Amino acid sequence: MRILIIGTGYVGLVTGTCLAEMGHHVTCLDINQAKIDGLNNGIIPIYEPGLEEMVKRNVKAHRLHFTTDYAESIAQSLVCFIAVDTPVTPEGNADLQYVERVAISIAEHMTEYRIIVNKSTVPVGTAKFVGDTIQEVLDRRSVSIDFDVVANPEFLKEGNAVNDCMKPDRVILGTDSPKALAVMQEIYAPFMLSHDRLIVMDIPSAELTKYAANAMLATRISFMNELAGLCELTGADINKIRKGIGSDKRIGYSFLYAGPGFGGSCLPKDIRALQSQGKALGYEMPIVAAAEHINNRQKKVVGEKMIDYFSLRGGLAGKTIGILGLAFKPDTDDMREAASLILISQLLHSGATVKLFDPVAMDNAKKLLPDSPSIIWCTDELETAADADALALMTEWKQFRFLDFDAIIAKMKGRAFFDGRNQYNPQDMVKKGFDYFCIGQAAFLINEQVIF
Ligand code: NAD
Repeated sequence: MRILIIGTGYVGLVTGTCLAEMGHHVTCLDINQAKIDGLNNGIIPIYEPGLEEMVKRNVKAHRLHFTTDYAESIAQSLVCFIAVDTPVTPEGNADLQYVERVAISIAEHMTEYRIIVNKSTVPVGTAKFVGDTIQEVLDRRSVSIDFDVVANPEFLKEGNAVNDCMKPDRVILGTDSPKALAVMQEIYAPFMLSHDRLIVMDIPSAELTKYAANAMLATRISFMNELAGLCELTGADINKIRKGIGSDKRIGYSFLYAGPGFGGSCLPKDIRALQSQGKALGYEMPIVAAAEHINNRQKKVVGEKMIDYFSLRGGLAGKTIGILGLAFKPDTDDMREAASLILISQLLHSGATVKLFDPVAMDNAKKLLPDSPSIIWCTDELETAADADALALMTEWKQFRFLDFDAIIAKMKGRAFFDGRNQYNPQDMVKKGFDYFCIGQAAFLINEQVIF
């Protein structure tokens, strides 16, 4: 089957490539000419494990194409997926301008029956909005062409996107059209060989399922982060509590890690958009609002610990802080809403110099941070540690799991380590000579009396 994916970002490129891998003929379209030119020259615009080889394999097999040409690609494709970005407006609403633009472009070029499948995360009512937008353009063109709109929200996780796409936990399809459903079942059939993971429902439920999933995940993280703060004040250990409650099958272990607050392109914006959907209908969503509130507070926690620590040591002004890991999570170069950005801004605001290192997100971080003499870009862990008064771990990349702490502390000027991801054993860190701070346990200080 010939399939068109509109929007060649994290979702569009991965989905298109995985559909091609399963034998479909896929065209990935984007309005970003440079991105498409790059892809046509073998340059993959995002970091995602396993993606590059799969793209190259399918391009070589002529199953995967990249274009900016709407007319030709819509003419060739029965099914057009929408995978464009849906950021939130400053007021917290889902911004549907890109989805609307795509709907208009499809309607301007379609000449026969098409299935428009929305993969972008969108509020309830968007399938109807897309349908109405397409119909308006068709009316303006004075043509009568049949079409269906399907809601097919995406659940892939950055950092594991290829795997998630090839072996989805579930595929949600919202449709009221048996004709469209039959085609969608055919598209996803190769992904369902071990067992059927298609869940078919009405369109509004499908649209809301995506927000419900992300709000649940956000709530679990914020709940643990809220408890973590209490642990720090009471002498309890959030890691032990995680094990203690995770062993209850009704709760489970996933998404119960305390940390520096969640970031990324999805959770923060989706819980904002979900609240605004409720608000528009006069319906308060206090649990979701609390998940957001706690997350905003949590994103400042590592910086506040540093401010406290250095308040007894002459203040942060003039200090040098090394930060290991910038991406919002490991195995991605995505910096959107990363907790590291809040920490960096707190440190710069306090007059500190920051030394930054991430295995793959440096280019994206450079686009978001100012060109400043207070920001030093490093090439590895040891360079980041050199002359630093403190180090912070903000992304738990695997390569940071077993750091050479003897070499690191020997290079540092100070001895504080702020572990935003609870990766290390506090007692071991103290033995190595660090004042060690993590999330959800009281500080582990070598000698509380030392004041510089
Ligand atoms: P992205 O920003 O990485 O990519 C979006 C792409 O769409 C960009 O390349 C942009 O140039 C392109 N685009 C914008 N307008 C266009 C137009 N009119 N025609 C053609 N291309 C256009 O976004 P993303 O992270 O892939 O997210 C896409 C959607 O999927 C969002 O709604 C997001 O919430 C949702 N989603 C994202 C993830 C994720 O992990 N990133 C997971 C699940 C769902």
